[in-house]
Amino acid sequence: MTITFISIICSILILVFLSYYNFWRPVKNSSWPRILMFHDTSDAPSSGMNISLSDLEIQIQYLLAKNYTFLKMSDLANFNVQKPHVVLTFDDGFASNHTHLFQLLKKYNVPATIYLTPNIGQIEALTPEQIQEMQASGLVEFGAHTLTHVNLTKVDDQTAQREIAESKEVVEKLTGVTCLSFAYPYGRFEERHVHMVKDAGFSSAVTTKKTILPFDTQNAFTLPRLNTNNCTNRLQFYLVLSRGRYKL
Ligand SMILES: [Zn+2]
Repeated sequence: MTITFISIICSILILVFLSYYNFWRPVKNSSWPRILMFHDTSDAPSSGMNISLSDLEIQIQYLLAKNYTFLKMSDLANFNVQKPHVVLTFDDGFASNHTHLFQLLKKYNVPATIYLTPNIGQIEALTPEQIQEMQASGLVEFGAHTLTHVNLTKVDDQTAQREIAESKEVVEKLTGVTCLSFAYPYGRFEERHVHMVKDAGFSSAVTTKKTILPFDTQNAFTLPRLNTNNCTNRLQFYLVLSRGRYKL
């Protein structure tokens, strides 16, 4: 009786542990890109959408220690070396990407890609001057994330097409360079939106699908990304990087 009870408790504990530490997921090919997704980089209380500067610094230090090569999104297409590489992406264009993140990028000399939503409202957004300063540093590449952060699946095709194409134009006016990558707001899109993104002249697009896949012509416009915002320790971060996610 006692032994049965102890084995049941042990089994439950093991299952709970495995649900928070998914060692059972298959390890992904180490030469496939790890595209990390972030948003706000302020030290505001955790909302699930922000990461503190200290947590982000720990993750960057870990990636450097593991010899990851840091790339911008536009570098992915030309990176053919069979070694670990990572892309740091930040959605929406939070002002904290300048006030907080930018100092980390300079400190460690690592690049990042920021997806701007020019008319997002509701957040403290990057100013044109901040965008231009980051662009001039060579450390930051800017992609587009629609004009108004619209859920593309909820609007008509004409609106979706305008949101995609015009956001590219606005970002290019702000940065003075070609805007090459797109991020689907809320990760929501359908096949026709993929074609709209291609037709607008982008060369890649990222989603919120949490896994790891190779960068190739089949995946270039539906690239998955990894969410490490709530990783509280190195083991969870290791699991995300090796398997795509650390918990159920
Ligand atoms: Zn967004």
